[in-house]
Amino acid sequence: MSGKYFLATFGCQMNVYDSNLIGGMLEKKGMQATGEAGEADVLIVNTCSIRGGAEDRAYARIAAMRHYKRRNPDVRIAVIGCMAQNHGEKIPVELDHVDYVVGPDNYRELEEMIFKDRPKTPAILTEQNAFENYDGIMAKLDSAVTCHITIMRGCNKRCTYCIVPTVRGVERSREASSIVEEVERAVSEGVKEVCLLGQTVNSYRTEGDDFASLLRKLNRIDGLKRIRFTSPHPRHFDSNAIRAMAESEKVCNHVHIPVQSGSNAMLKKMRRQYTRERFLEIVRELRAEIPNVGLTTDIITGFVGESEADYLETLSLVEEVGFDSAFMFQYSPREGTPAFAEGETLTAAEKQERHERLVQLQMGITERNLDAMAGRVEEILIENRSSRDRNEWIGKTGCCKKVIVPDAPGLGKGSLVSARILTRSGLVLRGESIIA
Ligand code: SF4
Repeated sequence: MSGKYFLATFGCQMNVYDSNLIGGMLEKKGMQATGEAGEADVLIVNTCSIRGGAEDRAYARIAAMRHYKRRNPDVRIAVIGCMAQNHGEKIPVELDHVDYVVGPDNYRELEEMIFKDRPKTPAILTEQNAFENYDGIMAKLDSAVTCHITIMRGCNKRCTYCIVPTVRGVERSREASSIVEEVERAVSEGVKEVCLLGQTVNSYRTEGDDFASLLRKLNRIDGLKRIRFTSPHPRHFDSNAIRAMAESEKVCNHVHIPVQSGSNAMLKKMRRQYTRERFLEIVRELRAEIPNVGLTTDIITGFVGESEADYLETLSLVEEVGFDSAFMFQYSPREGTPAFAEGETLTAAEKQERHERLVQLQMGITERNLDAMAGRVEEILIENRSSRDRNEWIGKTGCCKKVIVPDAPGLGKGSLVSARILTRSGLVLRGESIIA
């Protein structure tokens, strides 16, 4: 099998990384990527199961691929990722034009099968492998400036609303040497910033390394300018990790730390393994150790059993911390999660109302924090020309704020430039670059 492959990716950055892994495998064997599904020999849909809506969208996309098969019966269609793991053999029952259903631990087998004769019946590969880290396989780079690299797979937590442990399996960390090698390769190809990925990225651990020692190792890589990571779990933020962040100058002063709720009763019901008090302690320590650290978070409202008092605890925590921004979700029961059997205790309207009140509160804080940046001089990593004005560039501060700066001699993708923050327009800052 030579020819072309088309890859559609749903979901999180870890799915994007997995798609880049598969792209790397197929291109190593001579296949070429195409953005046109109609000209591909192999169509791959990398799916997400985090919410029902994500699965519905993937199903619709796969169903729409049926006509490619009618037009060219030799086309092969693969459904991979979390929804493949979650639904397995049920998928070809409804989508009978699918040839392969492959879970996140079985991409090596997918690669092998694509270069063999098409299976007579759909191949279902969803056996989980607690040791599979795809070490030795080089993922394609996803941008010339920033590169996302998965350092661990799976999750050992059991948050009661979450399907991830079911579809991604147990936690396993890659060897630090293979991560260092991958980052060095990315830097040699011009990448300036790496973002380390994991479901609970700061629980990274191998025999010889933990998250702190890994950060210190990556911090020594010449040519690398910035290190980011997502998503850490509050349970694994110890002083050792925070000190390593503070003492590694390439680690950005931004932490995305999901809190989910401000109520201890809800945190217990969600099985988050920390309390409101411990979370606030971590916030204080991060702010004490890392100057101007930007904090963002994830919040779920309307979880089963959430009282008005619980909800108000979430609002008061949001006010107390003053997050720069937050991903805010209404609870969505997921079949296959521990909380699913409990159903719901709030109506859709009640959930919507709570969600809107939270969004309004957080938006006010976000704008206030952005306004407070005026006058500050920040280092900006330029990512791209502004889509609105070709004479402007857009980039990010270390604390993860988007900034637009006018074009200037020497500015380009990957440039690191000092800029004075002038104003805010919407949720984007405007600055002027300070040319030394
Ligand atoms: S830590 Fe909790 S929310 Fe995050 S992936 Fe694991 S189970 Fe899901």
